[in-house]
Amino acid sequence: MQGIDLHTHSNISDGALSPEALVEKAAHLGVHTLALTDHDSMDGVQRAIDASTEHDIKIITGVEISSQWSRPSTNKKYGVHIVALNMQHVECLEVVLCTQKRVRAERAQLICEKLEKVLKHDFYSEVLSRVDGQADHITRNHIAQALLENRVVNRLQQAFDRFLKEGKPAYVGLNWIDLAQTIQTIHEAKGIAILAHPTRYGLSATNIRYLMALFHQLGGDAVELPPRTETASTRQMIDRLITQYGFDVSIGSDFHGDHMPWAKLGQTPVLKDGQVGVWERFN
Ligand code: AMP
Ligand code: MN
Ligand code: MN
Ligand code: MN
Repeated sequence: MQGIDLHTHSNISDGALSPEALVEKAAHLGVHTLALTDHDSMDGVQRAIDASTEHDIKIITGVEISSQWSRPSTNKKYGVHIVALNMQHVECLEVVLCTQKRVRAERAQLICEKLEKVLKHDFYSEVLSRVDGQADHITRNHIAQALLENRVVNRLQQAFDRFLKEGKPAYVGLNWIDLAQTIQTIHEAKGIAILAHPTRYGLSATNIRYLMALFHQLGGDAVELPPRTETASTRQMIDRLITQYGFDVSIGSDFHGDHMPWAKLGQTPVLKDGQVGVWERFN
């Protein structure tokens, strides 16, 4: 426990806890610096800040932005998550987050239409009730949970493997903001642009290297360290690339709640000698 957790979710996106409950739980676990990084939404951040006044914990403004990138040699688009932290001018993110939320709401409907074709069941209203009617908060996790509850699958992961991930019948192609524009917008807001969980995109080692080089070229600031559950060789590969490009590092649990028990609030990887934490830049 290092007391720093810079990647967490509340029920503003696919987390289980309210922003207030998340802050309280983090404080009780000994976290002193916390970023709430919901998917494409900062709607919970002020609530987290307000709740923090009752505890000995500092809240860093944050959001996890769904982005896309591609290799010039192919037309294929890859998804990537960029964690934006410590924005001084959050209003600069307004237009982008507004567009992302529209994309998210539209995509949820399209996914449910595809599911209905295969499963002959309309999941949309169920999914919508999971987000209190806020269609722009719907993530694929909410849809996976609806599939689980209806016993279409036995585990959340199965929902992705059988229906929701790329190449599967209910997958909807990417329509997120481009990586270059994401980084530029974060910098306009005077925030820090962090490449989230580089080992979680199902990319080959070659494509991870390509992505890290691209992120560096586009002015990205830092890379999130892989969770402790990754193998030593995977961690080494990421550490080497961090050194090669001179990235700072960020640490976050990607906590969602008890429904994803592998990511525990406040449990973060340990820095290697020479690595510089992004929190050194916080004011
Ligand atoms: P979304 O941003 O709506 O595409 O949903 C992203 C969330 O879905 C992430 O936070 C992951 O927790 C989960 N997710 C995405 N892809 C997968 C996958 N292949 N397997 C399991 N969970 C996934
Ligand atoms: Mn999530
Ligand atoms: Mn993510
Ligand atoms: Mn996340």
